Amino acid sequence: MKNYLSARTLGVLAGIWIGSSLATLTAAWLVTTAGGTLVTVILAGLPVGFAGLAATLWLINRQLLVPVRRMTDHVRLEHDFSTTPREMPFDLSSRADAVGLLARQLQRLIEESRSHHAALLEQTLNDPLTGLGNRRMLEKRLDILVPLSRRLSCTVSAMMIDVDHFKAFNDNYGHPAGDSCLVDIAGVLRDTFRRETDVVVRLGGEEFLVLLINTGHEEARALADAMRGMIQALGLPHEYSPVAPVVTVSVGVVTSPNGLLIDIDEMINHADQALYDCKEHGRNRVAVRLIGADNTPAAHTTAVDSATRTS
Ligand code: GH3
Ligand code: MG
Ligand code: MG
Repeated sequence: MKNYLSARTLGVLAGIWIGSSLATLTAAWLVTTAGGTLVTVILAGLPVGFAGLAATLWLINRQLLVPVRRMTDHVRLEHDFSTTPREMPFDLSSRADAVGLLARQLQRLIEESRSHHAALLEQTLNDPLTGLGNRRMLEKRLDILVPLSRRLSCTVSAMMIDVDHFKAFNDNYGHPAGDSCLVDIAGVLRDTFRRETDVVVRLGGEEFLVLLINTGHEEARALADAMRGMIQALGLPHEYSPVAPVVTVSVGVVTSPNGLLIDIDEMINHADQALYDCKEHGRNRVAVRLIGADNTPAAHTTAVDSATRTS
């Protein structure tokens, strides 16, 4: 019993019961000694009975119904996992009775649900192989970055990175070696683009996308070339590549015109075109595509850097 009702509640209930019984007996004795009938005894006892009932209901409301209502409110607010977690009110979770037990169990359930939800969210936003973000993560980050770059009126650059002759690598060294190569490349990207606003995602296969706000085309080109050099410097053997004896990447860069972020799909499209120019000009290099303010195809120009090759 002690686990279901606190000693205090039991004491008050017992008090109400003893008090109303004594009061009823006293009333009955007074009425019978004064020569009353059974009906008058019952009538005399009724107010005392009602008072006891009212006191019991008040106690049940205060000790059980109100706490249950507060716990329901707490669970309802905690149901939205995007909000900051709140603790169960201490006066509920610290109770030694069944209400306290329920409050603690509910809190534990909420915390477990929160951590499962966070783990699931992580899985849907991250690429399981490299641990980088995926396309969904890109979309999520864009929801914040697009309005931010518009408000600050800053330049946005996008880089499309593609491993050179990766099919030959996979065919000759095997898929697991290919996977490990992608993980190493992701590590270089993670080390190079470290600002909080940098977005680095694996779009799929051997293609990665980097989005940098407040970065003009010259800075983007320098960063892309440094990153390309670092990947080459990893020295991952690729003896089947006609480009170099090690794994290399090509990078297509595009910068938004006049500091206005154009549509992300369009940016990816332009970065892809620049990447294609790299592939056309021999791979293991960076190409920067400049877009006219009116974003018309006629205004596009691509500058392809010549790359240092190892042979
Ligand atoms: P290019 O220089 O023109 O980019 O040639 P490429 O061989 O890299 O390009 P292609 O598109 O022909 O081949 C891409 C290869 O990437 C095909 C597939 O074997 C490999 N690939 C795609 N996704 C994965 C992956 O998740 N893991 C591994 N190991 N390989 C992958
Ligand atoms: Mg590709
Ligand atoms: Mg490739």
